[in-house]
Amino acid sequence: MADDTLAIAGGPKAVADGLIRPWPEVDDTDRAMVLASLAGTNHANGPNCKALEKEFAAWQGCAHALNANSGTAALHMALYACGVGAGDEVLVPAYTWPSSATCVIHQNAIPVFVDIDFDTMNMDEAAIEAAITPRTRAIIAVHLHGLTMDMDRVMAVARKHRLRVIEDACQSQGALWRGRKAGSFGDCAAFSFNQNKVVSAGEGGMFTTEDGKMAELADRVRYFGEHREPSGGPSARDYALGWMYRNSDLPAAFARSQLARVDRNLAVQAQMAALMTERLRGTPGLILPAATPEATHNWYNYTVRFDMDRLGHAGDPAAFRDRIVAALVAEGVDTLVWQAFILPEMTVFRARNAFGHGIPWSLPWAGPVDYDPARYPVAKRHADTHTGMTTPLRHPNGPAVVEAVARGIAKVMGQAGRLP
Ligand SMILES: *Cc1c(COP(=O)(O)O)cnc(C)c1O
Repeated sequence: MADDTLAIAGGPKAVADGLIRPWPEVDDTDRAMVLASLAGTNHANGPNCKALEKEFAAWQGCAHALNANSGTAALHMALYACGVGAGDEVLVPAYTWPSSATCVIHQNAIPVFVDIDFDTMNMDEAAIEAAITPRTRAIIAVHLHGLTMDMDRVMAVARKHRLRVIEDACQSQGALWRGRKAGSFGDCAAFSFNQNKVVSAGEGGMFTTEDGKMAELADRVRYFGEHREPSGGPSARDYALGWMYRNSDLPAAFARSQLARVDRNLAVQAQMAALMTERLRGTPGLILPAATPEATHNWYNYTVRFDMDRLGHAGDPAAFRDRIVAALVAEGVDTLVWQAFILPEMTVFRARNAFGHGIPWSLPWAGPVDYDPARYPVAKRHADTHTGMTTPLRHPNGPAVVEAVARGIAKVMGQAGRLP
């Protein structure tokens, strides 16, 4: 009989060392593209940046795509393009990557958090309306983990209250809502090509929109605030407040060769997620990710939650979760507590100290906001009880990796009551 002693207690590992291959796979196409960029004469905002914009726009099906050096930069460009300004309020989910909220502060505007829906892990669409005030200008619709928000509801509430919608599609490239791609519903969208994302190029980002005027505004933020009339040459007067968010040519070359393989990689992720769900279904104490029928998940992150009631644990959920995760990691299961806190708990919101002097919250025309973490109990429950997986479900990994990982999870969950 197999030795089912937990690896954390000295037993054999469920997942052999070296079985899980790293993300992304780098092949000869990547090498050729990056070396060709290096051999070129423009390593700044070069020909690969321009070509990446064209190819991304074609893949996404959008009118305008502006390459930036990160998804966070693209988000900031979107805030500016939407006309969000000092003291305006912008709705953001209480649980997401910090820059989904800090991009708002970069425009001197004020994030207002909305609790999440436990099942989708996204902003609770039913809680949006109650968070709207006369100062609300926009919603950041974050499609977390690769699952889109209910864009019918988001767009309906935005239209009713005349709000802009910015889609944070950094994790959800290729995810669909009723067959339409994430990033194609709102006024503009941001994508990321950071190492962990589905197009992995080290770093990089993309701003997209259908609106030519918004593309022009976003481009100013990207490039020193430069603004020229079509007829005009450069002059010192043509520069307003701007940042420097252009990409460089080498990561853009890498992104192009990865983008060419994204559909194949997304298909692998979907197959592996389905297999993982099949193997883990019915595991006591494990809550599997739910997909809404209208949404096609891209399985960027396969996130599970531990059911503390089923596991008979009445104490600190996060501490118990951390013990389970430590046991999983000891088995060789590649899992990570991606985001252990909710955003209202971040120092910048506790201290309200972004630009100093309490700005933007102390602006005389700003309204009151309450960042008490107790207002976001669902986000807190999620943050305390989840763990996520990315690499085991991604190309070049396949069914053998998923089977081994699922065995490791079943082994640990079967003994969760006896963890050290
Ligand atoms: C990664 C990520 C970002 C930021 O992208 P970067 O390229 O790392 O700046 C923003 N929002 C979400 C939800 C992300 O996952």
